[in-house]
Amino acid sequence: MKQPNKNLTYEHKGVGTDYVSDPESTHFEDELVCSKCGALHKNGTWSWEQLPIKIKEGICPACERIQKNQPAGFVTLTGNYLEKNKDHLITFIQSIATSELSEQPLERLMDITRNENAIIITTTGVNLARRIGYALNLAFQGNLTSTSNGEDHIDIVWHRDDQTS
Ligand SMILES: [Zn+2]
Repeated sequence: MKQPNKNLTYEHKGVGTDYVSDPESTHFEDELVCSKCGALHKNGTWSWEQLPIKIKEGICPACERIQKNQPAGFVTLTGNYLEKNKDHLITFIQSIATSELSEQPLERLMDITRNENAIIITTTGVNLARRIGYALNLAFQGNLTSTSNGEDHIDIVWHRDDQTS
């Protein structure tokens, strides 16, 4: 019986379904390519390398987190410094994410949410969240706090208040 799968945002290729329930596991077989983003798992690490041959397809942990909307990293920016600098801060963060992604396929920005008092960034990996926090602190000073919850969850808060007269 065939069912139309038009609601799915990606297509299962028949392999890789074993991995879906356990994104952090290390039981990825060697030489697996993500059918969604093209990241390659080889020799225990993920890269953007391309193999000239066709290999087994699955889904990488970053695409899986995006699909399930399960971020690993949260970076929250607060303080009155945001009032006039939101756009600048977001551009800054996006450029960090772009450089990280070129090296680390599993470290990606998921969402940037802005509301009146905060900017909230979610990431697929804890390292990108950490890197964004440190970079903000270095470039814009302010206060940085980081709470990590095991290997695969981190909460970063960056806060800067300027004197208002
Ligand atoms: Zn992927």
